Amino acid sequence: MLLENLRAKVLHTARLLPKYGLVWMAGGTVCARDPETNHVVVTPSGLDYERLTPADMVVTDMEMNPCEDNFRPSVALELWIGFMRARPEVKAVVHTHSPYATAFSVVHQPIPVITETMADWFGGPVPVTRYLSVEDPEFPTLPVEVMGNGFAVLLGNHGPITVGQILEHALERAVTLEEAARTYSISKTIGVPVTLSAEQARASFDYYHNRYGQRRLS
Ligand SMILES: [Zn+2]
Repeated sequence: MLLENLRAKVLHTARLLPKYGLVWMAGGTVCARDPETNHVVVTPSGLDYERLTPADMVVTDMEMNPCEDNFRPSVALELWIGFMRARPEVKAVVHTHSPYATAFSVVHQPIPVITETMADWFGGPVPVTRYLSVEDPEFPTLPVEVMGNGFAVLLGNHGPITVGQILEHALERAVTLEEAARTYSISKTIGVPVTLSAEQARASFDYYHNRYGQRRLS
């Protein structure tokens, strides 16, 4: 079986999505690229992660040609691969329907940087696209453009996408983004939230990535 370890990691990450309250049932997607072969492992569409095994993960090349006969890949595979094509350092993509971040995608509002943790992981606000159906010609490209050099984007009227160099970072960003969206929503009910400026967010990000311990979290 191709890429046995990466399949197991993708499935493990997918199983954590409902545990962290980021998706329900078979929602969401986890996708990772193997830098050696440049093959992509992605969760199959619409199937319960608990009942899947690593063998059920879909493996394709960067042109979306299946490497083995298997389940149909996620309908949005072109988009997940689009992030990796545009940003060669990106090797993991996580997409969820987490409720607070998705609420921002519904009102088409970016999520500002409201906490130091959010600054450390994102370095700037998380932007949002217009609504894109999967048949929209811009579906595979616009979210990549809107995310730019950031680490997350909200798909309008759909939900968040986060990226990372490794799956753990893409997942931690998905959790951090949901927590930030929830905290921002709560803080708006009790007062006027003070958001971090672009300079403050960037400074915190740079400190965390370059000077705080040995971790590089891109
Ligand atoms: Zn979705």
